[in-house]
Amino acid sequence: DQSICAPLPVLGADVTVPLVTGGDVTYAALDYAASAPALQRVWDDVAAYAPYYGSVHRGAGYLSQLSTDLFESSRTTVADFLGCRPEDQVVFTRSTTDSLNLLASALPADCQVFVFETEHHASLLPWRDARVTYLDAPRTPAEAVATLERALAGRDPHGPALVCVTGASNVTGELWPVKELTSAAHAHGARIVLDAAQLAPHHPVDIADLDVDWVAFSGHKLYAPFGSGVLAGRADWLRDAEPYLAGGGASRKVARRADGGVDVEWHTTPARHEAGSPNVIGVYSIAAACRALTEAGFDRLVAREQQLVTRVREGLAGVPEVRVLSLFGDDAPRVGVISFVVEGWNSSHFAAALSAEYGIGVRDGLFCAHPLVRTLLGSEPQEPGECGAPEAEPGERSLNAIRVSFGAGTPDEHIERFLGAVR
Ligand code: PMP
Repeated sequence: DQSICAPLPVLGADVTVPLVTGGDVTYAALDYAASAPALQRVWDDVAAYAPYYGSVHRGAGYLSQLSTDLFESSRTTVADFLGCRPEDQVVFTRSTTDSLNLLASALPADCQVFVFETEHHASLLPWRDARVTYLDAPRTPAEAVATLERALAGRDPHGPALVCVTGASNVTGELWPVKELTSAAHAHGARIVLDAAQLAPHHPVDIADLDVDWVAFSGHKLYAPFGSGVLAGRADWLRDAEPYLAGGGASRKVARRADGGVDVEWHTTPARHEAGSPNVIGVYSIAAACRALTEAGFDRLVAREQQLVTRVREGLAGVPEVRVLSLFGDDAPRVGVISFVVEGWNSSHFAAALSAEYGIGVRDGLFCAHPLVRTLLGSEPQEPGECGAPEAEPGERSLNAIRVSFGAGTPDEHIERFLGAVR
């Protein structure tokens, strides 16, 4: 089918791992939701640039100027990729977690924040210094909108407010009704930030079309290595906030005062929130990923991924002991992120066996979304380690789950090997 992409070449496709049962097998990376393999195209792009690496914004030499140009043009590439409005700004960060913490540090005084308990901890936790309202897990997209509407209707209508919502769940892969939630937020004078950590790698994100105020995502989940992230959107709150980090690059003018103190004039955004020497390779690799996905035809990648989603869901449905976790039900649109438990199995042991006996890398645990996974498992609150979970005894109900996730570079063989192993 011409409308469907072949898997894109990724780094590590030829890595072999030893099996406990003897012999080697090529590694099947099925944990894209944690970190996706880098696209070969991104790696090549970065390698071509690497000899020209120099300091950004801090040198008069040719290579510094070139690096500065590449860094700044990466902003434009990301802005185009996200369909940013003319007044939007792209701030480079370390990750989605960093982006959302930056926004949390820039909230206006008395801002009320509304967030579903189902969010990843990166979206759930940064707002705890604000007046935050945690919303109960909805069981349908329509219920999500109604729950938000109700909460916003009861808010103090005069102060600023922010809604934070995921685009695609890192546990169920289900898409959230972002447009409807955005309309509800705006109708009540609130702003909205989209956690696109799991949406952006699997689906085009158009900030103007969605009408969200900010988007946050991470390079390492978007097939781009080297540890960068993005916060894109409205400039005003960021412009009026104290710099996220104090230091060089964020400050325009610094002078001693007569009383011995120091006066600082800060830059406007984005430099205001990018103090320190920037991670130019990380930023450049995000821009390279944006180009690679666009050139491959993102819609064709989505079409192929949806075929794999159907294949995995049908395959798992054929194993009676498997229960796939879902908040919104079977018909909900979703990306290539699927979590499940297997009756009679401890999820950690199951994931370890997939690795040791089949060379398959998946994730087990609570996926940094403890309240959501507990709701889905119907288990009592436990005291897990960070992002992990206590182990169930054999035969006990699972206290954690197994997550398989895939995307642009996933070959059919990895999916078939995974389904065969589960069977
Ligand atoms: N939000 C969601 C939905 C995620 O899946 C993740 C990563 N698992 C994050 C935020 C945090 O991303 P990072 O670890 O790159 O900061």
